[in-house]
Amino acid sequence: MDTRFSDEITGRPGGETITRCYQCGTCASSCPVAKLDSRFNPREIIKLSLLGEKEEILSGDPIWLCCSCYNCQERCPQKVEIADIIYAIRNIAFKKGYIPKIYSEFASALTTEGRIGKVSKFVENKRAGVGLPTLQPTGIEALEKIFAATGFSKLSQKKEETQ
Ligand code: SF4
Ligand code: SF4
Repeated sequence: MDTRFSDEITGRPGGETITRCYQCGTCASSCPVAKLDSRFNPREIIKLSLLGEKEEILSGDPIWLCCSCYNCQERCPQKVEIADIIYAIRNIAFKKGYIPKIYSEFASALTTEGRIGKVSKFVENKRAGVGLPTLQPTGIEALEKIFAATGFSKLSQKKEETQ
């Protein structure tokens, strides 16, 4: 248990409102992901974070399941910015090296192709079949500047080394 975890969250952009939560459950009952997947419950994420269950929150899948629809945030009677809090927690998790494989793959494709998905052979063949040119990497130079300025390159590299 880490009693400073909620301070760490409130200290990040988007995480400021977490301590307003009084656990009414409106967010959970408004959430389309919670309806489909029992692992996900935004009220629970807030509760465990406030209780200092840092490792459980950072190392688990739930924080990555939010689809950022903002239903919860629109309806919270306490104006808790739940989706933004989840982003803040994801950023903490990412810095600690907890990142789902799919996001590592997005990052890798972004750095090499300028897209979050590599162009498959199937797509290439379909494009060729209708006379479209082969897709080339795009915007790499601009992306490299953004990655360097935000520290993203170092974090992705650190993650690859630990995999
Ligand atoms: S709706 Fe707001 S106050 Fe209610 S549990 Fe969710 S975050 Fe907390
Ligand atoms: S923003 Fe995330 S937590 Fe909120 S309702 Fe949508 S999926 Fe659920």
